[in-house]
Amino acid sequence: MGRRLIRGLSGAAVFLVSVAVLSVRHRGAQETAQYPGLREGMSGKPERRSKASPEDGGGGKGQKNLQVPPEGYRTEGSLTLGDIFIAVKTTKRFHQSRMELLLDTWISRAREQTYVFTDEEDDALKRRMGDHAVFTNCSAEHSHPALSCKMAAEFDAFLASSKSWFCHLDDDNYLNPQALLKLLSSYSATWDVYLGKPSLNRPIRASETLPNNQTKSVRFWFATGGAGFCISRKLASKMVPWASGRNFLSTSELIRLPDDCTVGYIIECKVGGQLLPNELFHSHLENLQLIPPSQLTQQVTLSYGVFENKLNVIELRGPFSPQEDPSRFRSLHCHLYPDTSWCLQAVGW
Ligand code: UDP
Ligand code: MN
Repeated sequence: MGRRLIRGLSGAAVFLVSVAVLSVRHRGAQETAQYPGLREGMSGKPERRSKASPEDGGGGKGQKNLQVPPEGYRTEGSLTLGDIFIAVKTTKRFHQSRMELLLDTWISRAREQTYVFTDEEDDALKRRMGDHAVFTNCSAEHSHPALSCKMAAEFDAFLASSKSWFCHLDDDNYLNPQALLKLLSSYSATWDVYLGKPSLNRPIRASETLPNNQTKSVRFWFATGGAGFCISRKLASKMVPWASGRNFLSTSELIRLPDDCTVGYIIECKVGGQLLPNELFHSHLENLQLIPPSQLTQQVTLSYGVFENKLNVIELRGPFSPQEDPSRFRSLHCHLYPDTSWCLQAVGW
């Protein structure tokens, strides 16, 4: 299978390996001091879901680009944003530093289909999101069980909805709803579809604990949660025995890997589906400056982060300066939606 061919590491992939490995070691208070706008957003524990394995960091640059859907995946119906369930994972300490930015920008253009999953009641968030703010009972930690608990809550809420597509995002992702719609319109939710950015340039190896406590080696691809991913309803319904309710947590315990790896494991090892790598999804584990400015408005997801005291952000001109808009999300939003009131103000109208 073409996409499973592993090419040699490109320069970009080497950068990604460095980001993945070094960002674990170099995180700290001094790192964020230069970027007050990002201070809170950067203060995560140095443990990343998809840094679960030393194999990590390939970043999928060596993947075959499958943006053109294979035969059988093409759709004829007209998909609308109303058919998509968008789940954003967040935690109390990012409500202000990360969620406010998303609410001001892309969520304002996809309010009806976006739900935010967090761990603590917050009146300010409730005021802005109404019943689209979901307060889970998951603990507020960056541990595998806490993150799996939230993923299960997202998945169950999607199953209970009548939407055709489930898309997961982190709270440091910018989602372009129109680009997402265009992408998903090329597929049918009645097929098994799992779209996202592979975290590695080869399948991850894991050791699965069997009911008799023996272990079995398994290999599978997974989409990195930090770049966002989407799953069709058809595929999601097949995942139910392993992914709904408490099952998600028990499944993640079988392989002892983070939530995004668990999703890939369920799809590829249990259900028999496969990840369709897509280069329109981006996490901050890749060099975001490599995305040509002219192509930024076509990307489905983008992100931001800090690497070795430097911002890893998309590169684009104004209207806001990097000091005013360190993530560059506000500026991007103005390129996409110049009619936004604060964008008009920024350009002096
Ligand atoms: N997150 C969470 N609980 C935590 C820490 C993080 O739910 O205790 C969420 C966070 O809001 C984000 C995702 O997990 O949506 C990834 O966190 P972060 O970006 O801080 O770390 P990364 O894994 O990207 O390095
Ligand atoms: Mn992140």
